[in-house]
Amino acid sequence: MSSERYPDLEGGACTDLAPGIASKYFDADGHKQPFLTKTAKAICARCVIQPACLEAALNRTYPERGVVGGLSANEIRAVKEWDAYDKGLRDNPPKRSRPMVPHYEPSPASEFAAEFRSKADLSFEERVYGVFLDVKQGKYQTLNQAIGDIALIHSQVIEGAQS
Ligand code: SF4
Repeated sequence: MSSERYPDLEGGACTDLAPGIASKYFDADGHKQPFLTKTAKAICARCVIQPACLEAALNRTYPERGVVGGLSANEIRAVKEWDAYDKGLRDNPPKRSRPMVPHYEPSPASEFAAEFRSKADLSFEERVYGVFLDVKQGKYQTLNQAIGDIALIHSQVIEGAQS
């Protein structure tokens, strides 16, 4: 989570989450728990400091696993390897494929909060973000209820993909 790894960065969306919840998503092993990693990336996608957070991850150090700045630890390693190759600092292209570098796109929060449940055609990331907006606004009594909603959205997305 960025607030622990990059203490000079303030205002990250992950810092609004309870520590246990944040580490559950942001420190997850993407191979074993892809849903948790995808959720962390969804939060990063609407985080106002995402560009600065990713830049810090690319320019300083990066975690062994988990998500920072919208990329997994493996993706961050791959971006750094490809950067070195592009700059002629290594001879052979990296074995890892070149990841898509995320870019923060500002959106009015209230728009997503109102629409995420009613519009089945919204992306998984947008609908999960709606849940986190509701958490922030105190609409859930417990965070486990919010996690249950996210799991429900995930299962709906899986069902939709299989139908
Ligand atoms: S981009 Fe992601 S990891 Fe970085 S501060 Fe924002 S939510 Fe946290």
